[in-house]
Amino acid sequence: MILSEKQCYSLDKERISNCQPQQSKIIQQLIHFVNYQSTDSPDVLQLLAWKICDAIDSVQFSIILLWDSQSGHLEVSATAGINTNQFPLQKLIDSHIASLNQVFAIGVSQFFPRKAAVEDIGKPTEVFFRQTYSQQVLAPSMYAVVIESAQTGKMGVLVVGNWDNPYAFDVMQQNLVNLVGQITAITISNTRTIQALEEREQQLARQNEILLEQNREIEKNRQHIQLQQLQLLEARQTTSQFLTTTSHELRTPLNVILGLSQVLLRQRTSALCERQVEIVERILSNGNQLLATINDLLYFNKIENDYGLLELEEFNLTTLILKTISEHAFLAERKHLHLSFHINLNTHLIVNDSKRLKQVLDKLLLNAIKFTETGSVEVKVEEISNDRIAITVIDTGIGIAESELENIFEQFRQVDQSTTRKYGGTGLGLAITKSLVESMQGTISVTSNLGQGSNFQIELPRFVK
Ligand code: ADP
Repeated sequence: MILSEKQCYSLDKERISNCQPQQSKIIQQLIHFVNYQSTDSPDVLQLLAWKICDAIDSVQFSIILLWDSQSGHLEVSATAGINTNQFPLQKLIDSHIASLNQVFAIGVSQFFPRKAAVEDIGKPTEVFFRQTYSQQVLAPSMYAVVIESAQTGKMGVLVVGNWDNPYAFDVMQQNLVNLVGQITAITISNTRTIQALEEREQQLARQNEILLEQNREIEKNRQHIQLQQLQLLEARQTTSQFLTTTSHELRTPLNVILGLSQVLLRQRTSALCERQVEIVERILSNGNQLLATINDLLYFNKIENDYGLLELEEFNLTTLILKTISEHAFLAERKHLHLSFHINLNTHLIVNDSKRLKQVLDKLLLNAIKFTETGSVEVKVEEISNDRIAITVIDTGIGIAESELENIFEQFRQVDQSTTRKYGGTGLGLAITKSLVESMQGTISVTSNLGQGSNFQIELPRFVK
């Protein structure tokens, strides 16, 4: 334990200057003792009490009492010196406790003379001393000082005593003991600080141990997740392969069914009767639904496989839109929908992920065609500011109720949840579309009127950085 320069400095300078050389040596000795005392010694106060007896000739015993703020009492913390085993020290303290409390309360040192002590002790103690030690035994002369320093404030009382010499604590000695009281205060304060630091250190060590354990657990989980991811990837690849093959296998005969149904409806030579037309129309309509569902499945499959980092490039937006429209024209045609575009751009070049934008446009167009029975589907492209572009897919289809508008971007959300749904689909498309648009630093929104149609609009920066 090192008494810092500041702490030594905080000893009462006036008292130090009043010290005789011999007493200065004692102070040095005590400071040295405190400095080199092992910090983790639990008995540092006990050792100090002994050291006070050793260092100061006139001190035959010393008692350190500390103020316990919880109980509101002075409690004995250490005792040392001759005779302490021969007389019941606790009784001696008990008989002086009122005076010691006062020393602590008013912070003024007090001398208890040897003879006067017996007179002052009062009857019970006098009787006790006479009964225990014969008539000649007198109470010791004692000097009590407050354990206090400028830094720590009042902490307790240090009592030193001498059994034999009534003049043991003259003014010079009292000056010395007062300084010892200050050294004791600094020692206690240092011990407490060190204890608090040690506790903190232990606490940190425990927390470290817990963190290490958690890290081990996280690492184990990470490895587990990695393994699951690999298994998932493998499963996904198998599913994807299965979906692609099955969808293509389904699409081919379905296109034949749809084509032949249309031929049946259009034939003039031996026209179908009303009932037959109705049946073929139902075949055509159900076939179209099935085709839409298969297209959706293929679309998700494609996205799942492509979803990764943005692949930025400069490309011609108008070309991309025209290509997408032309790819879906046959679906619109099949439903006799008018498919059109309106592009109003000063510059046609933009920087973004063209593959991803194509997937978004595919989905919005597929939906617009799927949910429109008569009328039109239009794609509108315009600049809304220097660096932002809006693409809107407008249809005259079934529309969406206002209460449903905010839900349709959620996964597996379909407006028509019934088991006999008219339109096929998985309810995943718009959720994926939204996350694709956001990954391209864009936004997607919808306005719609039930029975009149919907407008799906995406806004994108012209140049993604
Ligand atoms: P699904 O695969 O079922 O079409 P989506 O996520 O693409 O799933 O769409 C969610 C729901 O939003 C659809 O089931 C439909 O009810 C509604 N919806 C999407 N686009 C349109 C549209 N253009 N017109 C009317 N309703 C639409």
